[in-house]
Amino acid sequence: MISKPTASLVEATNETIPCEKADAAAEPPSGETPVEIRPTRFGKGAFAKKPFKAGVRILQFHGRLYSKQEYLSKLDPVKCHFMQIGEDTFLGPSTSADNFVNHCCEPNAGLVIEKGKAYLIAVRDIYPEEELTFDYSTSMAEDHWEMDCACGASSCRGHIRDFKYLEPALQEKYIEMGIAPDFVIRSAGLKNPRDLFYAAAANQSLPPKRKRRAKTVVPLIHVAPAY
Ligand SMILES: [Zn+2]
Repeated sequence: MISKPTASLVEATNETIPCEKADAAAEPPSGETPVEIRPTRFGKGAFAKKPFKAGVRILQFHGRLYSKQEYLSKLDPVKCHFMQIGEDTFLGPSTSADNFVNHCCEPNAGLVIEKGKAYLIAVRDIYPEEELTFDYSTSMAEDHWEMDCACGASSCRGHIRDFKYLEPALQEKYIEMGIAPDFVIRSAGLKNPRDLFYAAAANQSLPPKRKRRAKTVVPLIHVAPAY
């Protein structure tokens, strides 16, 4: 993201109150949420209250929208909770469960941006009581915030940075899974996978010689709303 927590994992998740009051207009819609906030070894986290199948939308991230300039003027590396959802768009803190989705280097969920709105989707089947996590680097293209990580995953990178600094194989993996938003893909100097899709579709009408040179289509994960 920036990611919602803006300090180290330990520091960030120990924060019970974001640095700013949540915008009332940004509160999640009424109704029972399938996620709840619970204590973790690092502070607080968001936990599944029901099973989620891979590809299902779990929740929407909420918060007031800020430009990058506004975000930088408010950036507090210790206390603030912001999340980048576009090249020049950041979500401010909220008081709902989405504000407590922690980072993991082997996440069970991922970030998807659709029509300017940010959603958390399951990237594998998730069972009740599991903590929900995603890789913060998939929402980081801003060059101003990093954090140490102690998620415990065997592939833990130890330090979380912008998407462009990930190993190419991991970038490709997240792109193929459909959980690397366009703005982080572009920040890494990579092509938008949708561009590749349209290019491949257009090439279907080209002569065979050119058709063989068409780029491989990057499959996008199907996102099915859970509610
Ligand atoms: Zn880690």
